[in-house]
Amino acid sequence: MTDRVTAPLSDAATPVCSAKGCREAAVWVLAWNNPKLHTPERRKTWLACEEHREYLSRFLGVRGFLKDVVTLADWEGGGGREGGQEPEGSAADR
Ligand SMILES: [Zn+2]
Repeated sequence: MTDRVTAPLSDAATPVCSAKGCREAAVWVLAWNNPKLHTPERRKTWLACEEHREYLSRFLGVRGFLKDVVTLADWEGGGGREGGQEPEGSAADR
């Protein structure tokens, strides 16, 4: 897999938490967008360990930046971005 998730602090193979000074392995991906800087479709990502997920999501949340919080596994697993449209089953009409 290629690195779709990059954090400023991580240059190693293991993604680490984006919280300042934290070296824990990241478990969560916080997807956010600053409407003053980014187009609406743009997603910045922060990584968070269990301990900092709430802290970081609140930090983004109070600014209205936070869009999504998913596990790292889900984020990398793909298919997880704004899907949710299931094709209609074809009714047998002929
Ligand atoms: Zn952390």
